[in-house]
Amino acid sequence: MNVELSHILAEGAYLVAAILFVLGLKALSHPDTARRGMFMAEIGMLLAVIGTLLYFEIVTWTWILVGVAVGSAVGTLMAVFMPMTAMPQRIALSHAFGALAAVLVGIYKFIEYPVDDLGRLRIAALGFEVLFGGLTVTGSLMAFAKLQELVRGAPITFRGQNFFNLGLLTTTVALYIYFVCDPSAAWAFYTFLALGFVVGILLVLPIGGADMPVVISLLNSYAGLAAAATGIAIDNKVLIIAGSLDGTSGFFLSILMSRAMNRSFANVLFGAVGAAPPPGTKTVETRTVMRYTPDDMKFVLENAANVIIVPGYGMAVAQAQHVLHEIANHLIELGIQVRYAIHPVAGRMPGHMNVLLAEANVSYDMLFERDAINDQFAETDVVVVVGANDVVNPAARTKKGSPLYGMPILDVDKARTVIFLKRSMGAGFAGEENELFFDKKTMMVLGDAKQTLTAVAGQLKKRPGLVHG
Ligand code: NDP
Repeated sequence: MNVELSHILAEGAYLVAAILFVLGLKALSHPDTARRGMFMAEIGMLLAVIGTLLYFEIVTWTWILVGVAVGSAVGTLMAVFMPMTAMPQRIALSHAFGALAAVLVGIYKFIEYPVDDLGRLRIAALGFEVLFGGLTVTGSLMAFAKLQELVRGAPITFRGQNFFNLGLLTTTVALYIYFVCDPSAAWAFYTFLALGFVVGILLVLPIGGADMPVVISLLNSYAGLAAAATGIAIDNKVLIIAGSLDGTSGFFLSILMSRAMNRSFANVLFGAVGAAPPPGTKTVETRTVMRYTPDDMKFVLENAANVIIVPGYGMAVAQAQHVLHEIANHLIELGIQVRYAIHPVAGRMPGHMNVLLAEANVSYDMLFERDAINDQFAETDVVVVVGANDVVNPAARTKKGSPLYGMPILDVDKARTVIFLKRSMGAGFAGEENELFFDKKTMMVLGDAKQTLTAVAGQLKKRPGLVHG
């Protein structure tokens, strides 16, 4: 194949890939079409890789094969061994890898190409790429460490933190601008690169608890912007398009999640959240409550007129979605109204609960977002909270200084009876104790959610008149 033809084919592959990325992203906006969206994006990525390999003159096959082998091994290991419940950690690692690639490409370009040939726009893009890439690498690794509880997940703060961060950020940006004005200043390039790594850690350090979902989508956006800048620096159109799509969609998702969590986006952006963890964080509750059994739960459920189910992270851990669906079907057969209330940050990734319930074939029209169902709790006989905690914790409304304070929650405490399915009296992700466990209307059914629900389903099946199996 001659060089000209291979370039035309490569550009054609990039064009189709870019179209597939846009269509894939659009399809991802609804659960019905999300799977198709994912598939389109995968094909798009494959075409982009094939397109790049068609630039024969830049290909060194040995390194490409080494890259494919290492990348495939790491990807396969992550897919096989990291469970769905560790999805945020997995995403954080992927952002770190993507950003690291951008940084390495940027450094290579800076070393190998005479800066005078690059032009001002490419120089600016190159600097942006390594700066944003660098802070995304360390920020994502710090997010990973927090989510994996390798370091304390709650905000880590120190006196004068915001001033220190602002000072460091300003110095870093000043060095970047200096480099753009004088691209021969290699010292400035390497210094702001090093500072970028430090800034990434410092930006994520004071964020924690309930704010982690926002920071993860923000890092996603940074990784995308770094990739787009790489595209400009090395003149690769598909990188510019894919990076911009990733950057802007991640940015909008961060804004939407901040709104859903009632957080100031500017605070998350500049790492100035830093709510001190409440005293007694992650301590095990010593007060006692009356424990109820699956039998009690079955009795209360079958005597209700309406039931709202609130799934949370614990449902994902227990993989209780299938048996939960079975119970919902039993209750519907008994003429009881059943709905699911979905909080935007329930679980450990955006849409986590939707994915699990879809897996169990729960119909979408039974799922209600917080705004659509919150005023219904006061009219509800029984709420079953399946492994959720932070998203129903009234401390978010009442306890100033709590890491949850201000976050909109599902108002399950307004219902007539609340059944909590969890294993202990322990706190949720944000480490805040939940006073609702001690409310007179609350029934604590302690144990693994799947085991409890399986026992309840067994009891319901024995009920005369039920045909479900
Ligand atoms: P939480 O993490 O607050 O609570 C989950 C509860 O599930 C725990 O209290 C735990 O209690 C219980 N649990 C765990 N395993 C089981 C099991 N096998 N059976 C029964 N219960 C179990 O979950 P929520 O969904 O309420 O809130 C999500 C939190 O995660 C929020 O703070 C959110 O900000 C954060 N987050 C969300 C992300 C997202 O994108 N959605 C990303 C990162 C963080 P016990 O140990 O006693 O069983």
